[in-house]
Amino acid sequence: MTAPPLAVFGGTFDPVHIGHLRAAWEAAEALGAEVRLVPAKIPPHRPQPVASPEQRVAMLRAALAGQERLRLDLRELDRPGPSFTFDTLTSLRGEVGSTRPLVLVIGADAFAGLAGWHRWRELFTLAHVCVLTRPAQIPAMPDELAAEVAARHAGGVEALCAAPAGRVLDMVVSALGISATRIRALLAEGREPRWLVPQALLDDPRLLAAYRPPATGSGRG
Ligand code: ATP
Repeated sequence: MTAPPLAVFGGTFDPVHIGHLRAAWEAAEALGAEVRLVPAKIPPHRPQPVASPEQRVAMLRAALAGQERLRLDLRELDRPGPSFTFDTLTSLRGEVGSTRPLVLVIGADAFAGLAGWHRWRELFTLAHVCVLTRPAQIPAMPDELAAEVAARHAGGVEALCAAPAGRVLDMVVSALGISATRIRALLAEGREPRWLVPQALLDDPRLLAAYRPPATGSGRG
């Protein structure tokens, strides 16, 4: 019998929020997989994060405390240069061997941009891709990505478990219209993102400090 899949959920996590965590949790359950949350140091395909890698890791550690299914994987922070998913999957494939299913878990918005990623076609030789629904503006898939995916559709989780890589599975997860962009905006306005982020991020005032407006003087002499 083959080992259960190892799944990878990358992102900037600037900050990590309930939308990430619930989606990753549901993917972990549906795939019967351990999921690694892999924060990017230098995301190559989007603006740079507001919080430092260390701050984002501190938030992830606080968010993930108390459970084992979603784990933190810091390999992208240990690598110099842009955090290419190709390099991350190559490194994980080296660890798990050639037969264990490896699954790149990704939101539908991010997946639509896959054809702009470094060595994107080769990602399918390294891993399966599990595309999660997200209640957000999803850009249209370019023709070259649609063509690549067309022959790779998996009917279900079994197809992913039966091969090490190469299939694409669409997965419906709870529709949580939460984004890190919105949370950063709330904090910049001095508002509290209660129930959009794990309580642990609110309990320690240092954790979300990078997004709050700079403190002004009290005005007292
Ligand atoms: P930002 O608003 O800064 O762009 P984000 O909320 O999209 O951030 P990322 O860290 O960029 O978060 O996302 C990492 C991964 O999580 C991506 O694959 C993204 O599609 C997915 N994701 C983020 N939020 C959700 C959500 N609410 N539901 C499902 N997937 C999500």
